[in-house]
Amino acid sequence: MNKLGKLLVIGFGPGDMEHITKRALDALAESEVIIGYNTYVDLIRPLLNGQEIVRTGMTEEVSRAQEAVRQAEAGRKVAVISSGDAGVYGMAGLIYEVLMEKGWRRSDGVEVEVVPGISAIQSCASLLGAPVMHDACTISLSDHLTPWETIIRRVEAAASADFVIALYNPRSGRRTRQIVETQAVLLRYRDPKTPVGLVKSAYRDRQQVIVTTLEDMLNHDIGMLTTVIIGNSSTMVYDGLIVTPRGYQRKYTLGSAEQPLKPHERLRPEAEPWSLSAGGAGEAAAAPAAARQAQSTAVLERPEQPLAPAAAPGPAELAAEALGRLAAGGRLPEDAAVRWSGQAPPVSAAASGTAPSHGKPALFEIGVAPGVGNKKFSARQMALLADAAGEEGELEYTTDHQIILRVPCADPDALVARLQEAKLIIMPVGDVIKVKACDFCNLEKDDAVPVAERLQVALGGLSAPKETSIALNGCAMACYGAVLEDIGIVYRKGGYDLFLGGKKFGRNAHPAQPVAEGIPVDQIADIVEGIVAEFKEKGHPNERFHKFFKRVGVVGGFRHEDAPVTVEVNPVCGD
Ligand code: SAH
Repeated sequence: MNKLGKLLVIGFGPGDMEHITKRALDALAESEVIIGYNTYVDLIRPLLNGQEIVRTGMTEEVSRAQEAVRQAEAGRKVAVISSGDAGVYGMAGLIYEVLMEKGWRRSDGVEVEVVPGISAIQSCASLLGAPVMHDACTISLSDHLTPWETIIRRVEAAASADFVIALYNPRSGRRTRQIVETQAVLLRYRDPKTPVGLVKSAYRDRQQVIVTTLEDMLNHDIGMLTTVIIGNSSTMVYDGLIVTPRGYQRKYTLGSAEQPLKPHERLRPEAEPWSLSAGGAGEAAAAPAAARQAQSTAVLERPEQPLAPAAAPGPAELAAEALGRLAAGGRLPEDAAVRWSGQAPPVSAAASGTAPSHGKPALFEIGVAPGVGNKKFSARQMALLADAAGEEGELEYTTDHQIILRVPCADPDALVARLQEAKLIIMPVGDVIKVKACDFCNLEKDDAVPVAERLQVALGGLSAPKETSIALNGCAMACYGAVLEDIGIVYRKGGYDLFLGGKKFGRNAHPAQPVAEGIPVDQIADIVEGIVAEFKEKGHPNERFHKFFKRVGVVGGFRHEDAPVTVEVNPVCGD
């Protein structure tokens, strides 16, 4: 029996020597004959060591594949080369087609090895920033081997499903209309300002990288060697780079080292109202198109573009719709909003800096109160809040005597400044320290007000492993329930009593442990600040203060004591 050869189908990457894989180099070295399109052979010429070269023109792909199979069957080791990846509009498929045609079998036919390479979508994306990042697809606009009708249907499907799209073979000397028609379809689904990257000859001589927009892209040079990358609805441009966020915009807080959605929370449907398991997105998708359109126009600017009648809403729309519905009355999970995550002065990067250049700005969420002890909003403050919420925001009154303002907002700094000007206390929402106090009902009991205010200034809004309440009662009646909180402080004439590690809710709720009595006024704030610092430093992410106290045993010099064990009562009938 004749010795069988081997077919090595090699993707050599974008075209420079740095981005070719080790296996591709070895495969080239072990081959006896190289078959490829002229330009590609030239690109890898420095890597050759005397192999026979079979050069062909661009359009002779089928004959190239046939020749490769013939030579391999004659016992030779044949390298068939493609730029990028051989399995992406390359030679791999054709080789297998020729083999299949001949009845080839893996068990006894010539050996085939497909060597993967870096495809244009990846090499071009790397030069643009990180435009792909999320769900993406490649579409070749070449209608030599594929009917145009199929291609444009795919463009439309990808556009409506909000894929990032990499267009290969966007234009050649003769094929110039395809890219024009493609742009027109894309514009029916995407904002004209959607970022678009044009990369020509990535990692080759005469490399060219252009960042433009969907409406402007045709005003630039696009040719045979260009890959066009179209962003999705959340893609943005930053300092000349195109970046598609990992998640849909409104889901996380940037500007904060710790993401508000912890891994286990991510699994809860209520934290992701747009997920299939939450039902909201599914419902929206099933709703009649007209109803869907009516709903979405309430929260989106995007559907100004005529939507194709059969088009399903994209994931961004579903997410925004779900948020919109919640903002309109339902419960909005805290973590779905972009929060103000800074201490004074407020940080705006979280909201304004990350908002896409089109559509609504991200939802901004902030807690406001008229004072630590003061529960009385003035008419002017209420009017200001109503104005700030406007038609699209909401105001939620909480059990902590705080109003939470949620509103789509492009400039949180300006909003925060307005609220502060009206003497409102501003607090970030989420895993932060909350300082609360009773309203010091009787003027004789307001000695503790300065301590509450100092604690608010020093600790209010600081990030913490988990939301933590410090509550202060102005008299020993402790009617405000400070002794049930994470950290409770009760003022009596003569000093402050301190309580640590309360758990207010749940079946195993328990009051805080009394740890000290009669702490002098000049020490109480320092002591509490020290405890908070220790919690911030040593607490595990997501750990509640009472658990932390129990785990570490001693906090601020105060020792944890286990609560008395409850007795199980088992009342058997009649006994
Ligand atoms: N197998 C190749 C694609 C071949 S189709 C791959 O995986 O990359 C040819 C198209 O690929 C070109 O029209 C262009 O859109 C894209 N392309 C290939 N190499 C490129 C490069 N270095 N820079 C930009 N685009 C490239």
